[in-house]
Amino acid sequence: MRLARTGVVFTLVVCLVLLAVAAAAFAVDPPAKRVLVVVMDQMHPEYAQQYNMTNVLWLEKHGANFPKAIVGDMASETVVSHNVMVSGMLPKHQGWSDEAFRDTAGVLSSAYPDHATYNDIYVTGDLGYSDFASLITAAGYKKLGTYLHQTYPGSVVACVGEKSYQVRSMTADSADFGVFLGSGTTADPNLVALLGGKYRPPAGAPNNAALPAYISGDTRFDVNSDPSNDYGTLTTSPAWIYPEDGDRMVPGYIEGHLGGDNWVADATIKIMQNEPDWSGLFVNFGAIDKSGHMWGGGEADTLKRYNWDPNSWLDSMTHETFIAKNADTQLGRLIGTLKALNEFDNTLIVVCADHGSTAATKHFYGMDKQNAGDFNWYWGNSATDEDYYNTPVDKPSPAIQTLLGNSSIGGNIAFSYQSTGIETWLMSCTLADKQAAAKVMRSVPGVIATYYKSEDGNSYILDSTKTKTKMTKAEKSWRKSHAQTLVNTMAWPGSADVVGLLADNTTYGAFGDHGGAQKDVQRIPLVFCNPGLKAVQRRHEAHIVDIMPTVMKWMGISADPASAPQMDGHAYTLATK
Ligand SMILES: [Zn+2]
Repeated sequence: MRLARTGVVFTLVVCLVLLAVAAAAFAVDPPAKRVLVVVMDQMHPEYAQQYNMTNVLWLEKHGANFPKAIVGDMASETVVSHNVMVSGMLPKHQGWSDEAFRDTAGVLSSAYPDHATYNDIYVTGDLGYSDFASLITAAGYKKLGTYLHQTYPGSVVACVGEKSYQVRSMTADSADFGVFLGSGTTADPNLVALLGGKYRPPAGAPNNAALPAYISGDTRFDVNSDPSNDYGTLTTSPAWIYPEDGDRMVPGYIEGHLGGDNWVADATIKIMQNEPDWSGLFVNFGAIDKSGHMWGGGEADTLKRYNWDPNSWLDSMTHETFIAKNADTQLGRLIGTLKALNEFDNTLIVVCADHGSTAATKHFYGMDKQNAGDFNWYWGNSATDEDYYNTPVDKPSPAIQTLLGNSSIGGNIAFSYQSTGIETWLMSCTLADKQAAAKVMRSVPGVIATYYKSEDGNSYILDSTKTKTKMTKAEKSWRKSHAQTLVNTMAWPGSADVVGLLADNTTYGAFGDHGGAQKDVQRIPLVFCNPGLKAVQRRHEAHIVDIMPTVMKWMGISADPASAPQMDGHAYTLATK
């Protein structure tokens, strides 16, 4: 009897253990087998309310939302941030950390045999797909696309956006293909007649042959690129510094050939419809960024300041009131497609920005004239493009000449990039050279703190906060809590030798800009959403480097312990319902 009872108890225990094992197996089943990352380029968290972005607001209410998220690294630039998001690596470990870098390891030397002439400085936006792939391979890390392919063999991972360098860098070495708007314009008479001038066709990464036929063979993806189609931005300050070029970043009005974020959404929807086994789609809506660069975005983008008519579609087309709302509408179309394809429940949606921006409402130190953007941003000679060098027609602005033309360091500057921070590479880079340049940087207009790179190149040392430009109380507090950590995220042998952080509402490149450590430039929206996720407002700061490890944790994908280096980001636990 006793034995029999023991047997019953034993059987019950076995059953319970089996049930527990079954439950555990269910619990570790991936709650989502796809991830859709939508990057609202240059979006401030406030835009969601300000521009009535109802889809973003819905996701923030129903997902795991991080209202205190910041970029968390430097340089806060498109071409840096997108690869940080899908690599989990800080800029100092990803092979490039800014719009320019010094190829100290000679990774690109075989691709650019005449590089020595240019002191090894490369402009990241000019790099091709294979250059990014070489830099990633040399750095040795594993990107999200590779993990998705390993977990879901045969699945498709793709990147879509308007800008070549954004798509190439994000696709490189990991995704199956990338889709962007080609930079070359063509003149097929039939399409010119249809599209009212020159047009751009779609382009692909690694190359055009990688474009799926359902995109390359569909003339819907040809858009107007006529330089005369500038929506008034070429003749109006400050937009004319970085004007719109046809329907590259705005939808325009040619039915069936809308550009900008509508183009990006249409290409993404095509991929969703044609690749039922997709596991990762990384999408960039670039129009908010373009509008922000031209007009300043947010509070700076006002009716009063530029006298634009919100009732005129022509005027509205390039301003955030229309552009931010339209980006949200396109996000809504992606969500609608997921639902129509019954994929909404098994897709983790991540919405974020790659950086914020600050508008030059206090000081603009670049040249305020037509197409001055590139010459405001870049100074010097590079292996990829020698045209940035102080040409007779495009002298650098007087403000940056206080650095470039200073006699105590004269002739020792190899390259300088200035946006909402100033990053300068020297020719002779001894510690004394760097300290001398940092001392000059103290008097460059708008600079509130100066740093020079340590001897081993792996950190920045504070030179001074006693600069010609005084910090406000708010700037002091933000600098104290964030600046040193932020500049160190871009410290490696290839990064700038000297850094000048700029005051708020101060820019050198375009009227609205990013790149630096300012609070407005660093703050971004960040939300993870899936029907299985518990809605929560997280109280701590999260960074874009945390996106990949957090996505992997939620999808039940473990980081490869043999991968070196390991991810820099932190994997947040997203609570299930
Ligand atoms: Zn960007």
